[in-house]
Amino acid sequence: MRLVLLGGPGSGKGTQADVLKKKYNVAKLSTGDLLRGEISNNTKLGKQAKSYMDNGELVPDSVMISILDKKTTEFEEKKQGYILDGFPRTVPQAEALLEMLKKQGVTLTMALLIDVPKHELVRRLSSRWTCKNCSATTFKDPDGNSVVCPQCGGELYQRDDDKRETILNRMKVYKKNTQPLIAFFEEKGLLEEVNGFGSFEEISGRIINLFNEKDIK
Ligand SMILES: [Zn+2]
Repeated sequence: MRLVLLGGPGSGKGTQADVLKKKYNVAKLSTGDLLRGEISNNTKLGKQAKSYMDNGELVPDSVMISILDKKTTEFEEKKQGYILDGFPRTVPQAEALLEMLKKQGVTLTMALLIDVPKHELVRRLSSRWTCKNCSATTFKDPDGNSVVCPQCGGELYQRDDDKRETILNRMKVYKKNTQPLIAFFEEKGLLEEVNGFGSFEEISGRIINLFNEKDIK
């Protein structure tokens, strides 16, 4: 399985990736972790990446793809599947990824979108409250009545990041960046969607059903 996982903030895709990782014995590759790994091992690619980061610049796609190429080739040799979390984020990155796989003589299994309706994402995200006393975060319904920290009984407040307006803005940015990516994978016939409305377990169940249908192991 070679999987790209797509989903907005609050879609829970990171946690779903963890479930798939266990169930299917695949690796979860996040570009942040891969970068840190190359840098701490002081590899040639790590040094290249670090030189950009030290200058406060983004690591170019070409460097990121080289790192991914190296890593995924290792997995192909071990015959182990993987899930990409957080990559690609743009159409050029997606094009480069498919090109990379083509050179490896393999294909992407699918780009899986966890599609959560906007109102549900906003509800999930804006239900996060922080304790004034111990900084623990907790979830409650936006109109819920629980007003104390479950850890210490302290008073709860909502950080600016967790406020509805901030979240709506983040969603707008996410949508603007991700719509073209979704369209790209759809055009290539690689896009699959699962309904991201419901509990965490319900969503996992839908993903696993989809994999069963497609005979993905
Ligand atoms: Zn507290």
